[in-house]
Amino acid sequence: MQYVNGVALTTFPIAKKKKKKKKKKKMGGGNGQKAKMARERNLEKQKAAKGSQLDSNKKAMSIQCKVCMQTFICTTSEVKCKEHAEARHPKSDLYTCFPHLKK
Ligand SMILES: [Zn+2]
Repeated sequence: MQYVNGVALTTFPIAKKKKKKKKKKKMGGGNGQKAKMARERNLEKQKAAKGSQLDSNKKAMSIQCKVCMQTFICTTSEVKCKEHAEARHPKSDLYTCFPHLKK
């Protein structure tokens, strides 16, 4: 290894000179096409997001009255379930309608 002024010379000094490739964002023509494609891709993303939103809404309706099969959003309180059971199914037990409330 060679030393110049006490600094070691690496075997491949050229390698250090290589510049990191920077993203070429600015291109001359053809930008419109790219922008259009990006827009279309964004639209697809939005569609997908909407789809998953619907899915989560469906999942949110996770409480179901076992007697009349009516679904309730998962945040429905026990009180609301009780109200439903008493109003709709006075002959049935609350836990018959909503077995998940059983502890
Ligand atoms: Zn019911």
